Amino acid sequence: MKFGEFTLHIIRECTFKLDGGAMFGVVPKTLWGKTSQCDEQNRVPLACNLLFIETPNANVLIETGMGPRWTERERQRYEVKPLLDYDNFLASIGKCNNDVDAVVISHLHFDHAGGAVAFRENKLVPAFPRARYYVQRGEWEFAHNANARAKGSYRHEDFAPLMEYGVLELIDGDTQIVPGVQVRVTGGHTSHHQVVVFESGDRKGVYFADIIPTKNHLSPPWVMGYDHYPLTSCDIKSEYLATAAEENWLVVFDHEVEVPWGHVKMTGDNKFEWQPLPVQTLAHRQVLDSAVP
Ligand SMILES: [Zn+2]
Repeated sequence: MKFGEFTLHIIRECTFKLDGGAMFGVVPKTLWGKTSQCDEQNRVPLACNLLFIETPNANVLIETGMGPRWTERERQRYEVKPLLDYDNFLASIGKCNNDVDAVVISHLHFDHAGGAVAFRENKLVPAFPRARYYVQRGEWEFAHNANARAKGSYRHEDFAPLMEYGVLELIDGDTQIVPGVQVRVTGGHTSHHQVVVFESGDRKGVYFADIIPTKNHLSPPWVMGYDHYPLTSCDIKSEYLATAAEENWLVVFDHEVEVPWGHVKMTGDNKFEWQPLPVQTLAHRQVLDSAVP
């Protein structure tokens, strides 16, 4: 999709499932069950939607998804269904792993960093050989010192090779990645979680990562049970959504199974309505064909 001087693509890396209770935190199932259908194990369907931004200066990939390194048991637990060839993440849009100049990872949980590295000749190496990888220093440090509640979401082998191969950019706070693409620290989901704000011409957009994972998390108090700082998530959502509604930003959800980009409208005090873009804005059908739970 054209976006000012940029071209944007959604790359759907996989679908998977997580427990509905964990996805909606303190929201009772009698409420979330009306918008998210769960299976017999109480799991709700999710996707990993990566955003690829072609700018006049460089190509930026936002997130890397779950990746292929899962045991059969883990695959079943999360019902992971990979949707791409990991040697060629961008095949659906006619590009290759070598075309990526910058990779932004919102935080280092396994469903965001899992595709960052790949096995080549029995060694784990960066999956995008030419790219610099942008991670908040605070997130990096936390991932290495996570406590018992948080550490199950991190796998060191997803990101240790980035340091080893010297491709990692540890950044401190809000940072421009390339002209028109900026990361902003939100906290909430993890203490240093970052979102990506991008703009070109008169258009502006935001990739919310795990601050608003799906359209069913649009309501500010509907935050995930996984969030380390849920009250921060709630406040930051209100703040960003008010601006996004007022300035008509393009909004992208990382785990939405249906059309993951669109706009939001403010319908009342701290109330927002989701207006997805038409399906035709997605470059390839596979994004939605995979959405069947
Ligand atoms: Zn996630």
